Amino acid sequence: AGNTHTTLAQLRRGVMVLMGAELEKHKARLYWPDEQDNLAVAGDQGRLEQVLVNLIGNALQAMTETPLPRIDIHVQASTAQVTLALRDHGPGLSEQALAHIFEPFFTTKSTGLGLGLSISHRIVESLNGELIAANHPDGGAVFTLVLNRMHKEP
Ligand code: ADP
Ligand code: MG
Repeated sequence: AGNTHTTLAQLRRGVMVLMGAELEKHKARLYWPDEQDNLAVAGDQGRLEQVLVNLIGNALQAMTETPLPRIDIHVQASTAQVTLALRDHGPGLSEQALAHIFEPFFTTKSTGLGLGLSISHRIVESLNGELIAANHPDGGAVFTLVLNRMHKEP
């Protein structure tokens, strides 16, 4: 899958198809501006969607007590990389979560498997990218997905 690429437009539409009903169920908004839709990243569309679906699913589960649940995706591009930062408005990550979040079977949910983030991390590493977990200074968790940018032939 390393030699394929996906545009942000494809990713955004794919994620909306996969998560549209779930977002509606949670009465949550996903803010993902389309200005950078023409950017392309290294990686197979299905696997990248899997990563985003895991992150968005976790964000929704973290915001069950949040009055106006919303997820903001902030896109930034440099010559070599495209960064997607997903911020939610839940309680954020505990010290323990920050330390172990990408380990298989780490979960704080009674019915959680604790595999989503470890698999996502592995997918991103296989694309020579990065997945970083942090807290936003104003609250909520931020997952930063750094992917390699692909430039279309002129
Ligand atoms: P699962 O969702 O099955 O618990 P994951 O690997 O997806 O497994 O996530 C591991 C743990 O990381 C979660 O149980 C939760 O404690 C924490 N976590 C993940 N995403 C968030 C988030 N957006 N806000 C708060 N905690 C989170
Ligand atoms: Mg999960």
